[in-house]
Amino acid sequence: MNFEHLSLEPRILAGVQEAGYTTPTPIQEQAIPLVLQNRDVLGLAQTGTGKTAAFMLPILNRLLTGRLGQVRALIIAPTRELAEQIHQTAQTLGKKTRIRSVAIYGGVSKERQVWALRRGAEIVVACPGRLLDHLGDGSIDLSHVDVLVLDEADRMMDMGFLPDIRRILKQVPAQRQTLFFSATMPDEIRALANEILVDPATVQVGMIAPVETVSHALYPITEGLKSRLLFALLPQIETKRVLVFTRTKRRARNLARDLEAQGYNVAALQGNMAQNRRLEAINGFRNGTYDILVATDIAARGIDVSEISHVINFDMPDTVDAYTHRIGRTGRAAQTGEAFTFMLPADEAMVRDIERLLRTRIDRRQLPGFDYAGFVPNLQPALQPGRGSAPMRRAQVQSHHHRDHGYGQADGGRGSHGQSQNGQGRNGQHGPGGNGARRPAQPAPQARTGGDAAAAPRRRSRRRPRYSPAS
Ligand code: AMP
Repeated sequence: MNFEHLSLEPRILAGVQEAGYTTPTPIQEQAIPLVLQNRDVLGLAQTGTGKTAAFMLPILNRLLTGRLGQVRALIIAPTRELAEQIHQTAQTLGKKTRIRSVAIYGGVSKERQVWALRRGAEIVVACPGRLLDHLGDGSIDLSHVDVLVLDEADRMMDMGFLPDIRRILKQVPAQRQTLFFSATMPDEIRALANEILVDPATVQVGMIAPVETVSHALYPITEGLKSRLLFALLPQIETKRVLVFTRTKRRARNLARDLEAQGYNVAALQGNMAQNRRLEAINGFRNGTYDILVATDIAARGIDVSEISHVINFDMPDTVDAYTHRIGRTGRAAQTGEAFTFMLPADEAMVRDIERLLRTRIDRRQLPGFDYAGFVPNLQPALQPGRGSAPMRRAQVQSHHHRDHGYGQADGGRGSHGQSQNGQGRNGQHGPGGNGARRPAQPAPQARTGGDAAAAPRRRSRRRPRYSPAS
């Protein structure tokens, strides 16, 4: 199957070429024909599967006919990063058309968005809070929308957006096509889907494991040795970009500072940063200014850096979903990736949950030559292969493990938080999954072939500090 078989107009195929896609991903193969037939679609797919192009290509195709200058496609996304990313995808794929997209999210000037809307746009990619602001101001007219996309619906629910979504839905014509994407299907999301979709076709890819190319490993360690272990591990891994997750904003800041002191090009990404600082960190990571990004779960939402080769969970995630979401940052599209998790003795229960979800045992490794200062890493598996017969439903194996290692306030935690800085988010831990190609136990990661052979994160001269503490 290639894109030419999908009945897309030549101008849209030119956009596909512009994006550098050659073969449709499974969700694109399944969803594009259905969307072109005007069907409502329920897509069970996570970030990293190519779902954005799966809805964007047929939407662009449809917008080629009909009036320009009216908002005809509305895409709602939970975070500004994701909204920005979808908007960029619309621009790339629609490059050879006259279709215009506007991104609407908080944390940046409203006036520029009003201007862009006045100039005319056919696609609006919006986060719920700012979109409601514009609706309240009368600066956006949704009465001509004939395609509505809800992206990452489960995450929107986690972030407390369902009431906002319902308010937005009231302003969109009932006669429309609706595309509904969610990585998981908790009851509330299923109810919302049933309510707003008409005779939907369901497409499902990689329910829990779209990222077949990620290998996983655990490094048992103590809290006090974590930083040293990371410093010892980094020079040994053959890598392009490393995304390190910490549980709290303060830990992200401190670890980035410590890595900076070790001579790495590193940025922190955490929820307290102004939007321009966040973009600077993400773009710097994308363009190679930074080799390492230290992030919290919430801040990392929507990051799309296709070159991420390693995800390192410096802190164990709080939920199984957070684990799969983090791991989904690597091994995207056709890339391969490795996911290393630092594991405290107290993390055993969470590891068991993750292994049950992945239906496998994750390798436990000891870093050769590392001074464990008397700590004896437990390399015994928690689960026998073949056991852990829980059904492959992420929602059913979710669990919550909150701990405090004394580094300050968590960036996460479900449900009860106030609005985040941009007025867009409250919280959420859902995300894409990771699983697949597992390698035999080995003392340390092997060099990967075919890549940027000398691309391990390099220490730079200490005279040119690049990391400046997050605002
Ligand atoms: P998404 O799941 O939409 O976030 O997409 C994940 C990544 O896959 C993005 O970096 C896309 O640019 C990339 N991608 C999407 N479709 C294709 C394709 N057909 N071939 C190669 N890469 C793709």
